[in-house]
Formats: sequence, structure tokens, C-alpha cells
Amino acid sequence: SYTYQATNEPILSYEKGTKERDSLIEKLKNYNSGIHEVPIVVGDKEYTTDIVKYQVKPHDHKSRLAKFYYADKALLNKAIDVSQCALRGWDLTPFEEKANIFAKAVDLIRGKYRFDLVASTMLGQGKTIVQAEIDAACELADFFSFNVKWANEARQWQPISAGKAVNRLEWRAMEGFWASISPFNFTAIGGHLAGAPAFMGNVVLWKPSDTAILSNYIVFKLLREAGLPPGVINFVPSDGPVFGDVITRSPFLAGVNFTGSSRTFEAIWRNVGDNISTYKSFPRLIGECGGKNYHLIHRSAVQSQECLEHIVNSTIRSAFEYSGQKCSACSRCYVPKSLWPRFRDGLVDVVSGLRLGSPLDVGNFLSAVIDGNSYKKIRNYIDQAKKDGNLKIVCGGGYDESIGYYIQPTIIETTDPKNLLMYEEIFGPVLTVYAYEDDEYDDILKLIDSTSQYALTGAVFIADQEILLKSQRALRYSAGNFYINDKSTGSIVAQQPFGGSRKSGTNDKAGSPQYIMRFVNPQSIKSQS
Ligand code: GLU
Repeated sequence: SYTYQATNEPILSYEKGTKERDSLIEKLKNYNSGIHEVPIVVGDKEYTTDIVKYQVKPHDHKSRLAKFYYADKALLNKAIDVSQCALRGWDLTPFEEKANIFAKAVDLIRGKYRFDLVASTMLGQGKTIVQAEIDAACELADFFSFNVKWANEARQWQPISAGKAVNRLEWRAMEGFWASISPFNFTAIGGHLAGAPAFMGNVVLWKPSDTAILSNYIVFKLLREAGLPPGVINFVPSDGPVFGDVITRSPFLAGVNFTGSSRTFEAIWRNVGDNISTYKSFPRLIGECGGKNYHLIHRSAVQSQECLEHIVNSTIRSAFEYSGQKCSACSRCYVPKSLWPRFRDGLVDVVSGLRLGSPLDVGNFLSAVIDGNSYKKIRNYIDQAKKDGNLKIVCGGGYDESIGYYIQPTIIETTDPKNLLMYEEIFGPVLTVYAYEDDEYDDILKLIDSTSQYALTGAVFIADQEILLKSQRALRYSAGNFYINDKSTGSIVAQQPFGGSRKSGTNDKAGSPQYIMRFVNPQSIKSQS
């Protein structure tokens, strides 16, 4: 049936005069006016506490989008209890029923709630229409629909029965609860971090990001509407350290499904380690963390003006779409010296035409960065470039937080390939370029690998096949997602399974069949007659 088939959801264009555009505008108006109330949900009950928080619009930070509450320790512990009450019944629910719930959720994402998801992601997370559509509509639907298909395929495999023995493998949930801790930058990742373990029969405490509350709450609500029983996912916005403390002290922690900074993931791992002998089972830890993703250009790649334009556009899209706030965004670039002047002029030319502003204005290519902390951190890197003799601002460099957290797309040139800007994650619209001597290519390969403390994404632009092979070998461990002649961002579910190793995480590859198996606790049953 349809439930077990999956195809990537096509991107809507929202062109002028289309019904979709009118519907989206309607939703944007609705969400843009008034403050939307988001409760904590534990089991089938909604809660508020006296720890009141607001989600603001990054492009207009005096304007509040949503009001929400932090779950305190007592409520988080209650959520653990409630989840444990829901576990047995949900785990024993037939696979077909779970599949139907998630297939229904896919319908709701593609249809009834599509514009709610897109509008709340635009306003709350500062995404342009296209960026919100590929995330909150397409990627979210893709994650759920492919997971259903893959789980259905994977469960067909059964062990060999020999002699008088009948052997069987039964999927069980993990005992205890999963803690899903999700980031602001993709609504789809939030839904997937909570939705994937739940679909595989587990129960979840979902701590969404403060700066993605409204869109994530819509995802939670639509899962409930699709038929997900109460208590299977508990929606518990909370203070990070408090949440971390409660979950890692519970003997029922079954796993942590995390996307966010490498530092936070390390802290969680450390807490789990400190408590390791107190758990009923060894918790599984899944992390998708930072990146310092590169574009490497070899001179063989530029055989015509068209080739150059392709590399320029790819680099700009990767570095500046969503203001460089994708984990996969390009933030360091290596270009041969012979090509640098042309490449630089190309970059500057395109960047000078990019419009920065409200996500509601369709002409804008990028909008404000997510919040004040992020703004300050990025600004500090730019200021450093203004002081450091090894760094030169090629274009951009401006910022202004009087209305929104605006940072201009900024390109910096460095004469030191080991400069901090070539090494540390910035998570903003800042690209640093090192122009290498054409004959030092082999050294550059070594240098990229040795300065990759992260290994999330990387792209090479090379036409010469021998050089390509050599580069691929040298860069084998420097990226979990490796792109040849294309930008380092924009992975699609089931097409480019996503994740990295080193400081980028556990590389469990969201958007692939192997990911969902992390949430299964199989029982092998031999029955002798
Ligand atoms: N999958 C996204 C991409 O390829 C990035 C995901 C993330 O930012 O975590 O652009």
C-alpha cells in the first residue's frame, strides 16, 4: 500500500498567483500577529510553569512569536514516569498500526499543516520561503515516509531455521526512554530526533530548542493528531543543563538522540559516563554535531567561464544560504593562487547582489541570524578579522542588531591556512578563503585533513580524474558527506544520508535505513519442537 512506499516530496514554488502562495501568506499573517501560546505536554496533559520564556522573530527581535514555559525538575521526572507507563502498550502495538500513524503524519505535513510548518519556521527561525519549504515540509515528510518504508523492509529479514528449531528475530523497543534534544536550524531534524525513536516503538522526552519552539510544537501536535498515543512523545521545553541533569540521573535513560554543538554532546557523554553504573541498560548515544566544512578547488575544474560561475555560485549558496547556519555550510575555501583573482571577483560580484532582510520579503536571499548569542559570537570573529594582520575582509563585514540580528555575508582572505577562522566553527555567514600556490596542492590535501577536527561535509571541485582519486584518498576521513563538483549543503533524505565523524558526531546517517536500527532492541527467539 501507499504507506510502505516513499518518494521525495517535491518543493512547492510559491510563485505569484498560486494557491499555495495565498495560503502561506494567510498563515504568515496569522502567526505574525499576536503571541502564540505553547504549553509543555506530558502524557495527555498540558502544563505551564512559572518559568516563562518567549520565542522572538530573529529579523525583528522586539517582536514576540511565542510564549512558552520551561519544565522544571519535578515535571521532567513526571514525564519520565508517564513515558514508562506508555512504553509497554506502545512497544506491543502492531507495526502496521505504527506505520499508519506515521503515514498519516506525512499526509498532514504535506497537506493540512504544510503552511503552518513553513510559516512558523520562517518567522521563528529566520528562514526564507525556499529554505523553510525544503526543511519543514519536504525533509520532514521525507524522513517519516522513508523510515516507514525502510523499517518495513528491514523487518522482513528473519534468521535461518534449521532442524527442529524455528528461529525468529523480534523487534522490541529499548527499555526506558529516549531523550531527544533538537537544534533550531532544522524543523525537520527536531521532528526526526523525536519521531524516529518513537516510530520504532520507543518512548521519548523531546527537548526542542528555545528558538524553534513554535514550529516544533506544530510537529508534535500533528503527530498526536495522526494518532500517536499520549506519553509516547512528551514535549518538554526546558533549560539545557537541568534537562541534561535529570535525564542522565535517571536509571531509565535508554538513549540520547542529539543534534547540536560538539561541546554539549561531550558534556552529555561525560554525565552519562559518570552515572554509567546506575543505568538499567547501557544508554545509546547518537550525536550530530558541528562542522568546519570545506570547498577545495583544483585548477583543472575551471575550463570555462561557466565552470567558474558554477563554483562561485555553489560556494556562495553553501556559505550564505540560511546565513551559514546549516551544520553542512561551507566556511573555509581553498583556491589556487592562479585562479584567486577571478574567483574573488566572481564571489564579490554575486555577494554584492544578495539581499539581506526580512524573510517575509521574497527578494531577500538571507535573513538575520538566530539570536543575540549567535550574533555576538559571529561578530567577534568578524572583528578579529579587522584586527588580525593575517586576515583581510574581501567583502561584507557589517552587522547591525538594532532591529534584527543582521550580519552581512562576509568573505575573509587569510594568508595563514592555520588561522582560527580556518579551524573553528562559526555558524554564521562568514567564509574564509586561503589561496594556495598551485604547486602546493599535495600539501593542501594534508593540511585540510590535519585541520579537520570536525568531519561533517566537504566538497572538491576537480575535473582531472587522477587528481580526484588522489584527493578523495587524502580526504577520506575529513567528511561524512563528500561532494564532487557540487556544494557541501543540501543533503536529501534517501539520496545523501547525512552525518559525520570526528568531532562532528557518531555518524549514524539520518535519512538512511541504518539510522532507524539504532532504536531497535532485538530479541532472538529459538523455538525447539
Ligand atoms: N542536511 C543538511 C544539509 O545537508 C544540514 C543538516 C544540519 O544542519 O544539521 O544541508
